[in-house]
Amino acid sequence: MARVSLQNLTKTYAGGYLRAVDGLNVDIADGEFLVLVGPSGCGKSTALRMIAGLEDITDGAVWIGDQFVNDVHPKDRDIAMVFQNYALYPHMSVFDNIAFALQISQMPRSEIDARVREAARILELTDYLKRRPGHLSGGQRQRVAMGRAIVRNPSVFLMDEPLSNLDAKLRVQMRAEIHSLQHRLGVTTIYVTHDQTEAMTMGDRVALLKDGVLQQVDRPTDIYNRP
Ligand code: ADP
Ligand code: ADP
Repeated sequence: MARVSLQNLTKTYAGGYLRAVDGLNVDIADGEFLVLVGPSGCGKSTALRMIAGLEDITDGAVWIGDQFVNDVHPKDRDIAMVFQNYALYPHMSVFDNIAFALQISQMPRSEIDARVREAARILELTDYLKRRPGHLSGGQRQRVAMGRAIVRNPSVFLMDEPLSNLDAKLRVQMRAEIHSLQHRLGVTTIYVTHDQTEAMTMGDRVALLKDGVLQQVDRPTDIYNRP
């Protein structure tokens, strides 16, 4: 677990004309589930990608735990990201999809095996480890993407609209699954969505973004009740 601190985090495009993320200040506590919510184009993905190191920071700072990470390579940040499209390898088994990042890190095989099996157990994928992603349901594919993040044992999860490819019924079910998983693991989580219901049902706190500017950050019950 780690605290995450965003300090005046800023990203401009078009030679400074477009302020995609504009002076974002948020402290996310150890183990907290923070949802970053707002309409399309408000800067959610850009903010998350700066935290992940996938986007250069124009101004401000990102801290993960005790580490100032502005110039730290994505691989060397204590994070795991879950993408909207899952980015699974279609020709590889579920096991190898989950294990992939560990395999290229030269971790001992026995350790990889143990971690993948533990993740599969938690995600109820044990019976599917030999299948390929094409032979899984949408919800199972989503869980494989989660498994990939879990096996890295990161201090921070970053999730970018992870449920947007699922149908409405499955989306509601997976909300609950991700929520309970996050609470069991206690991993500090920053979760991006444009869906207000998702934000209100999942977040310990919700950060409301509009045109790159933070409007409010509060617990769901308090978010719309401020004068
Ligand atoms: P969201 O995730 O909330 O939909 P984004 O972070 O994707 O929003 O985008 C925020 C703003 O930055 C939008 O106006 C978008 O058009 C702009 N933007 C995003 N990426 C780029 C880019 N590579 N070049 C120029 N503008 C961009
Ligand atoms: P504060 O209560 O103001 O956060 P701290 O002593 O925790 O006081 O940290 C002082 C400042 O140092 C923070 O506001 C932040 O700018 C920076 N800082 C140091 N360590 C961290 C960390 N682990 N995560 C985030 N910010 C940190």
